Amino acid sequence: MDTVEKLKILSADSQYDLACACGTTKYGHRTRGLDGKWLYPVALPGGGQTILLKTLLSNACSGGCKYCPLRVKTDIRRCTLTPDEVARVFMQYYERRMAFGLFLSSGIMGSADATMDRINAAARMLRYNYGFKGYIHLKVIPGASDAAIEDSLSLATAVSLNIETPGKKHSDKISAGKDYFTDIIRPIRLMGGLTARGGRYQRVKCTTQFIVGASDETDYEIVGSMYSLYGEMNFKRVYFSAYQRGLGEPDIPGEMKPASHSRKNDALVREHRLYQADFLCRKYGFKKGDILFGPDGSLSMDKDPKEVWADNHPEFFPVRLNTATKEALLKVPGLGPDTAQKIIEARGFGKIRRIEELGVKGKRLARIKAYAVPE
Ligand code: SF4
Repeated sequence: MDTVEKLKILSADSQYDLACACGTTKYGHRTRGLDGKWLYPVALPGGGQTILLKTLLSNACSGGCKYCPLRVKTDIRRCTLTPDEVARVFMQYYERRMAFGLFLSSGIMGSADATMDRINAAARMLRYNYGFKGYIHLKVIPGASDAAIEDSLSLATAVSLNIETPGKKHSDKISAGKDYFTDIIRPIRLMGGLTARGGRYQRVKCTTQFIVGASDETDYEIVGSMYSLYGEMNFKRVYFSAYQRGLGEPDIPGEMKPASHSRKNDALVREHRLYQADFLCRKYGFKKGDILFGPDGSLSMDKDPKEVWADNHPEFFPVRLNTATKEALLKVPGLGPDTAQKIIEARGFGKIRRIEELGVKGKRLARIKAYAVPE
């Protein structure tokens, strides 16, 4: 098989990993790349976009995660790129200005560290043989040793290890071969510690991903775990990937029944609500207790979590735009951090007399009017 043939297979199989922000539009991360194959637009943290070459090093895997189409028992066409092939093909795209960064993941080839050696070798070749100084995102394989993780951190711009589930109980159900604490939480803690402010690799960004709905985990459990990842573990981004029924074994909770948390049985709505909760945590200063759940631990399918909070705190509203703190403004459904900042700046030039002065329209304007008044 030549390199392009392998890339076709490996890039298609890398689509299940969303922990790199590939795709910039809503659900864009689920679509194929710009070239229909392996080049993906990615949103940059400071705004703008870049393009990543996203691929697996190998889709061979000795793991048996029940939700994963690459698990050892599935009958799929397997192949592996050498580190040299990865570095060469990436540089060809880079020199043609078609890709500006690399996202490299892999199935487990024998052992976690044997796989990490190859992933790190590809990155090392790019850094030292080709002098590439740009963006490299490396996947940390569950169970990797501390030394292999440090090696990745020394080479990468970003690293990720997918937590997949919010606890051992769920991990044991769908990833029996992985020890939740030793293989997942231990490396996550190490990565978070080394990349925290003042840590040896503080320039490196750590991300992770939950697979949503493969087990019978609740949104409450996922959101609790998400707060720990941002708080105690210093992770920079948490992603959510709705489990796609049909990809896994028939006996896992996500295959046996429709997600009980979702009245509409819509895994993507659930994923979307989790992203909204994530935004409230990262951008709006919502504390863990501010995210409210139904009796079964689910987020509302009908309303976003901010509106749910507002409707449960009538004593807080209406918020007065001319005098409220930024924290209070951020609690108003329809008002985001940019508009809240704009309101605070506008106050320096006189009073806001009508909400329409904020320049928002339609449904968003109606939402703001339901919870805020100028005076
Ligand atoms: S370790 Fe598990 S999730 Fe990762 S590729 Fe192998 S089977 Fe899939």
